[in-house]
Amino acid sequence: ERIISARMNHEDEMVEYSLRPRYFNEYIGQTQVKENLKIYIEAAKMRGESLDHVLLYGPPGLGKTTLSHIIANELGVNIRTTSGPAIERPGDLAAILTNLQPNDLLFIDEIHRLNRSVEEVLYPAMEDYALDIMIGKGPSARSIRLDLSPFTLVGATTRAGSLSSPLRDRFGVMSRLEFYNVDELTLIVERAADLLNVKIVGEGAREIASRARGTPRIANRLLKRVRDFVQVRGDGIITEQAARDALDRIQVDKMGLDHVDHRLLMAIIEKFRGGPVGLGTLAATIGEEAHTIEDVYEPYLMQIGFLQRTPRGRMVTMRCCEHFKVEWPK
Ligand code: ADP
Repeated sequence: ERIISARMNHEDEMVEYSLRPRYFNEYIGQTQVKENLKIYIEAAKMRGESLDHVLLYGPPGLGKTTLSHIIANELGVNIRTTSGPAIERPGDLAAILTNLQPNDLLFIDEIHRLNRSVEEVLYPAMEDYALDIMIGKGPSARSIRLDLSPFTLVGATTRAGSLSSPLRDRFGVMSRLEFYNVDELTLIVERAADLLNVKIVGEGAREIASRARGTPRIANRLLKRVRDFVQVRGDGIITEQAARDALDRIQVDKMGLDHVDHRLLMAIIEKFRGGPVGLGTLAATIGEEAHTIEDVYEPYLMQIGFLQRTPRGRMVTMRCCEHFKVEWPK
């Protein structure tokens, strides 16, 4: 398990609950998304209607689940959470939908992983707040329509592109979450340290933030690791030096890269003369799944300008070579 993996692990699950912002005023960054949502929420409340369905997309750990809870809190409604892979049959989804109270929020994480038959239940539910149920079999089969309470679906996905278009078209609001900058992450680290009762100085928070790959989940996790070091080895205060030592020790470098990134980028440099190399070939070379590379590793490497996707494959950049102090292979 990579310390800088943006995916939730068991340990995160326990702390994240306590660190999760509950209202917009605690949710740092993503200004555009936040400001728009505030307007839509305000308008829905003024009309006494349910909020339009919202699709949140972007890399893991950027705050999609958090935002869905905030939307429910700001609307003053209940939230029911589930995920694409957890809903196996159409009946499972029908049961969830029929149990919602008026204007409740249903959050479906990894919505791109819903299977087709389940997804089809969602279409009339989203559009008309209705369930179409088939009764009987063969020639005597007929469909009856059941009314549902109005509700808001909030879907989250790391890949908006793999949503079917009928599903995508039924979202009134589509918001893309972006990586956070170091200033924003510094505030997130300071807030988390406060909640965890950890003493930290501004430069210490900034050091952690700058290695957190633009991702709050990673920032919080690095904070916890650094805290362990300062409690056992230091005086319990996270200074810039303490943060640096601890992070060097767990091998997260200045750019937030670890051994997996290292292996991926060095493979392109050493085995493919810097690229271009096809995703499949690259995946086989380093022994990782192609979709993991694409969804989890690459977005950040592209964001920091170390990797490029070209029509002919992946290429490293001059910047990447400078970081690893190797010669530009071109
Ligand atoms: P996602 O659903 O996109 O994978 P989460 O909503 O689970 O991400 O966020 C991961 C953790 O990061 C949360 O528990 C929360 O503590 C923190 N977090 C995310 N976004 C923010 C934010 N904007 N401000 C403060 N903390 C945040």
